[in-house]
Amino acid sequence: MSEDQILKEIEQNQEEYITFFQELIQAESYNPPGNEKNVALIIDKYLKYSNIKSEIFSFGDNRANLIAYLNDNFEGKNLLYNGHMDVVPPGNVEEWKYPPLSATIKRNKYIYGRGTTDMKGGLAGIVIALKILKKLGIKLSGNLIVNAVADEETGGVYGAKWCIENKLKLIKPNFSIVAEPTRLKPLPHVISIGERGRLIIKIITNGISTHSSWPFMGKNAIYMMSEIIHNLDKIDEYLPKIKPPLSLEELKKLISDALPRPEVLEKILNEQPILNSVLKSLTQFTKSLTIIKGGIKDNVVPDRCEAIIDFRLLPGQNIDPIFNALKKLIEEDLGYILKSEPVGEPKEVFVYIENIQYSEPSYWKDWKKSSILKSFYKIIEEAYNKKPFYLLFPASADASHFRNTGYCVKTIMFGPGSGASAHSTDEYIEIKDYINAIKVYTLFAYNYLK
Ligand SMILES: [Zn+2]
Repeated sequence: MSEDQILKEIEQNQEEYITFFQELIQAESYNPPGNEKNVALIIDKYLKYSNIKSEIFSFGDNRANLIAYLNDNFEGKNLLYNGHMDVVPPGNVEEWKYPPLSATIKRNKYIYGRGTTDMKGGLAGIVIALKILKKLGIKLSGNLIVNAVADEETGGVYGAKWCIENKLKLIKPNFSIVAEPTRLKPLPHVISIGERGRLIIKIITNGISTHSSWPFMGKNAIYMMSEIIHNLDKIDEYLPKIKPPLSLEELKKLISDALPRPEVLEKILNEQPILNSVLKSLTQFTKSLTIIKGGIKDNVVPDRCEAIIDFRLLPGQNIDPIFNALKKLIEEDLGYILKSEPVGEPKEVFVYIENIQYSEPSYWKDWKKSSILKSFYKIIEEAYNKKPFYLLFPASADASHFRNTGYCVKTIMFGPGSGASAHSTDEYIEIKDYINAIKVYTLFAYNYLK
């Protein structure tokens, strides 16, 4: 068996791979509510047709996780591929040029639909890699485990985390790949060695309502909120200083190494302000006020205002100091009472804060020393005919569950599709990118496990 035979197999069966990918897109799995079982059943059928052991673990209402493996031997090297089956809802379907569940192919070059990029392309790719290794009957000393999970878009507690704590517990992977889309257009693909975390906090200000012609009687909850928001940057002073795992200069150097000439990066950064913004955000703790709601009528002083703040955490940063800093700001600096529940007595003036979603940041500290990573890099370079580069990922993902639980610190993210298309209207993927990713997943597993 040789790499050429694997490449020939992929070349000859592209149509089958595209059809399978379309079936995954057409299987509705919007989260919320999830419905990932629709996707799991298709994967299960596809693998069982090739005599591959696959198990579905159902939960909730039409939700599921899936685990499949090449053979029954888990004593040697174990390579784990992970992908999530849920996708974000499509928003206003009318705005889509091609319906989100249609999996429309255009000019034989692109596939459109919700989840094409994030991440049914990567998911199809890892499932197909397993199928190819089985079909070609390649003798390998190790094992490839494919883990398709639910719940990633809402934190992964019932998906990746549940699998690690239950069904995957006895399998010790030596290396894991989360097949999230990691192209950072117009640059080539990223191999992500860490991600920032995400903390979503709801703030409620509770004042006293009154007629707006005698406002002195009341306490305007929107003014209370604007005071908090105006002073929000103060919390930076109250937080322990944290150094990013890689400085802006180091990040730029990592990208430059993949480009033909170092000057090219400066040129790209000048033309693509979004890339500048991504790199900058990877080196800092950021906060964005994303939602604000308040007021009921034009002549009523509002007694209630709600805001959502999206905090992004650097690897090594914890949530407790953030809560303490917020408390200090609200209680000591602004002099408000902070209550532990969102309701109070009539005419009670208070503030309430709540953690409504959290995913931990994570980072593989020793990635530079890894020889596995170097061989993975080479395989991507050959499949795409372009050098990838190492970087942190701006968004959070299931990789944090693998690294932070100690289950598999050596976890990276790599997959087809461009981050910019994820979660957007008319989400799409390039077919060539998808096929190249199949090559990467299959050839890497073959080389690593042979
Ligand atoms: Zn994703």
